[in-house]
Amino acid sequence: MLIDLIAGARPNFIKLAPVVNEIQKKQKEGLILDFRIVHTGQHYDYIMSQTFFDELGIPAPDIHLDTEKGSQAVQTGSIMVKYEDELEKQKPNICIVFGDVNSTMACAITAKKMEVPVAHIEAGIRSGDWSMPEEINRIVTDSICNWFFTTSKLAGENLLKHGASEDQIFFVGNTMIDTLLKHRPNFKKPAIFNDAKLSDGDYFVLTLHRPNNVDEAHKLASTIEEIVHSGRDKNIIFPAHPRTAQILENLNIEYDRLIITEPLGYLEFNYLVDHSFAVITDSGGITEEATVMQVPCFTLRDNTERPETITIGTNELVGTDPANIKPALDKLFEGNRKKGSVPEKWDGKTSERIVSKLLELNL
Ligand code: UDP
Repeated sequence: MLIDLIAGARPNFIKLAPVVNEIQKKQKEGLILDFRIVHTGQHYDYIMSQTFFDELGIPAPDIHLDTEKGSQAVQTGSIMVKYEDELEKQKPNICIVFGDVNSTMACAITAKKMEVPVAHIEAGIRSGDWSMPEEINRIVTDSICNWFFTTSKLAGENLLKHGASEDQIFFVGNTMIDTLLKHRPNFKKPAIFNDAKLSDGDYFVLTLHRPNNVDEAHKLASTIEEIVHSGRDKNIIFPAHPRTAQILENLNIEYDRLIITEPLGYLEFNYLVDHSFAVITDSGGITEEATVMQVPCFTLRDNTERPETITIGTNELVGTDPANIKPALDKLFEGNRKKGSVPEKWDGKTSERIVSKLLELNL
């Protein structure tokens, strides 16, 4: 069986790594299972891409699509044209897409039209917010896939409502958490920890990259100002996503306790999260990781496609109005620390379950 594994952006690499490791394990056991990593090039610089291959032991991509940079449509169209060319040369038995980025949707459509069956890892999650490009990617992808690997029972229910049938849906858990649990013993203290004289449990980690929070410079500035003032005497470490860094460049924001860095590698970033007082973010994946590490997490969004991080985990939805930040952080300073537990099947064995299912499908 030949499997195409599609990855294009930072969160994809983290979700893909344990699936590759599991396939390699089965190969060593003598099973005839082959894979190609298709890197679409959505994220291409070292800090958003190659670092994850190096740190997480992902083999070099077999195919680079070198996607055109540009708008959502330019990117999606370019990935489709280039992946179609690859499929003309050789078709796999299955194409596996991850998460909710443009590469996910573009390759799912292309493969399906070329009669290659498609499976989606992290299928069925929904924010209900059609202003997010990711929500459109999720809905389009899930409407054409053959099989769905889900992180929660609710995701399966969403898929059933959209017309999928029970026998297409496999509730397996979360491959992002496979990566987290495998690498947690090797998290690396970043240089900034000593440079900024940080100590355990005494600083915030901040990440922001959603258009709603970062695209309007004055809103980004007031969000940061509110976090700095509500964060009392704590330092705030802010590894800025390239999209955010570009906007920050013109803002000249400076506060004593705000430390803006480049994005960090996976092992250093999660060391910081694991040892922090709390995380403030608009990332989806980070809410899942904070839940498993039991670190309080405040999400600066009005909705989430990962409700279990709130109902079960340590995440709280603060919204996108900067005025909501102070009351949320005040509660934490008063000792009202949300205790959570770990969602079902987020146990480090998800990739094992996925690869067993692929073998059962016997394509
Ligand atoms: N991450 C990282 N370095 C950073 C910020 C995030 O390695 O400086 C990791 C983080 O641990 C998580 C993933 O990147 O695994 C989340 O990616 P992102 O926030 O870009 O995507 P989203 O989860 O919002 O789709």
